[in-house]
Amino acid sequence: LPEYAFIGRSNVGKSSLINMLTNRKSLAKTSGRPGKTQLINHFLINKNWHLVDLPGYGYARVSKSTKKVFQKFITEYFSKREQLVTAFVLVDIRHEPQSIDLEFMQWLGENGIPFSIIFTKADKLKPKAIENHVEAYQNILLETWEDMPNYFVTSSSKEIGKDDVLNYIDQLNENMQLSSN
Ligand code: GDP
Repeated sequence: LPEYAFIGRSNVGKSSLINMLTNRKSLAKTSGRPGKTQLINHFLINKNWHLVDLPGYGYARVSKSTKKVFQKFITEYFSKREQLVTAFVLVDIRHEPQSIDLEFMQWLGENGIPFSIIFTKADKLKPKAIENHVEAYQNILLETWEDMPNYFVTSSSKEIGKDDVLNYIDQLNENMQLSSN
């Protein structure tokens, strides 16, 4: 089955987003404590695709060796997944582009792994500020890449962007079925 991976810094709102996308209140546990989501979790959605919940990167408060283990984990996941269609990189819309996120996107791009950006916590900013922050990402990414990756503006607390993400995944799944028939 096709696979879609969700990844981002700790506390970016990944568990909340996964809960929103899957209509569950407590499927992926949310927690403010870094390091809680340590293993890779798979969720079967609509019996036709897998949502893969990857561990967060960029914990501020863990040791270098822990960071290395996480990195290895993530690298190994991406090097082996033949079913992976797209990775969704989550970034908190409230912050200016962060180097750790940009570096991770750069790494995905260099390794030929398709990705989209999911901006989270959009309820916390005014539309104009959202626009500015998206544009800031756009400008930086376009310095290196020809196109801006697809992106989604979401809020799990206000249920914003849910259908956009799910429809996009359905569309990709349909395209793949068409091309394999
Ligand atoms: P994770 O560590 O990336 O899985 O992040 P969580 O889903 O546990 O969320 C981290 C914190 O951000 C929690 O306090 C959530 O309540 C909060 N949060 C997550 N999504 C949203 C959102 O869309 N809007 C707002 N305002 N807060 C959010």
